Amino acid sequence: MVSGPEHEKGTGLPGILKGLVTTARTALRPTHTAEYPDVAPDLPPRSRGVIALLEENCTSCMLCARECPDWCIYIDSHKETIPATTEGGRERQRNVLDRFAIDFSLCMYCGICIEVCPFDALHWSPQFEYSEVDILDLLHEKDRLGGWMATVPPPPALDERSAEPAEIAAAGKPPRGTGLVGAGGAAGAGGASARMPRTVRPRAAGTGVAAPGPQATGSVPPPAREPVTGTPESVPDDSVPPAPPAAPGADEGTA
Ligand code: SF4
Ligand code: SF4
Repeated sequence: MVSGPEHEKGTGLPGILKGLVTTARTALRPTHTAEYPDVAPDLPPRSRGVIALLEENCTSCMLCARECPDWCIYIDSHKETIPATTEGGRERQRNVLDRFAIDFSLCMYCGICIEVCPFDALHWSPQFEYSEVDILDLLHEKDRLGGWMATVPPPPALDERSAEPAEIAAAGKPPRGTGLVGAGGAAGAGGASARMPRTVRPRAAGTGVAAPGPQATGSVPPPAREPVTGTPESVPDDSVPPAPPAAPGADEGTA
């Protein structure tokens, strides 16, 4: 095997010249050195810098705290009773968030808490300048976590070739029972959801049961009645029930 000095002898260049050639070659290449903190680094928009909390969305369901592999999320909450909004209605209960904290000295930035949150209350922010002299100061309470929301970039645009989300398709449908065709129909084009008038089916006299007939939609006219012809005497009166047949011998008793 050829040692260093013998190898240099083989090239015919003294070591000092080789060093100068290497220096000149690298001096002409573009540099990759980041001049931080004078120049801010150009980070990808979805960088995992810090976790931001949108407190209004949090329902204290504890899913994130249970799934965190480091157990570095601390949540306290209590239940609050909301009075009924209508007469005879029920009181409701909801969770009120008292404390939400993340200890970033333990967090390993896996993103599981953000993935499992069913209410989009946690978001990644690319902000990373929150180093502290005291490690205890890396415990961020909910006010500080909420402040990071201002640094969360907007969500990326949807892929143009992706299928329309089911929620948007459902929002475009007309309300049930209106008979409107499609969201862009004649009634929908005006922006207002026009409702067809409801017609109450007439009830049969004395029965309380709806009379048979076409299902009322407001557009089907009632069946036309046949005109009555002839003299009043010739028209049978259906409203007067026929008299029951006389009992045998009744005439004799009254005569
Ligand atoms: S990113 Fe991972 S380790 Fe950090 S708080 Fe969320 S679940 Fe826990
Ligand atoms: S941040 Fe999300 S997962 Fe965690 S308690 Fe709040 S709603 Fe539940």
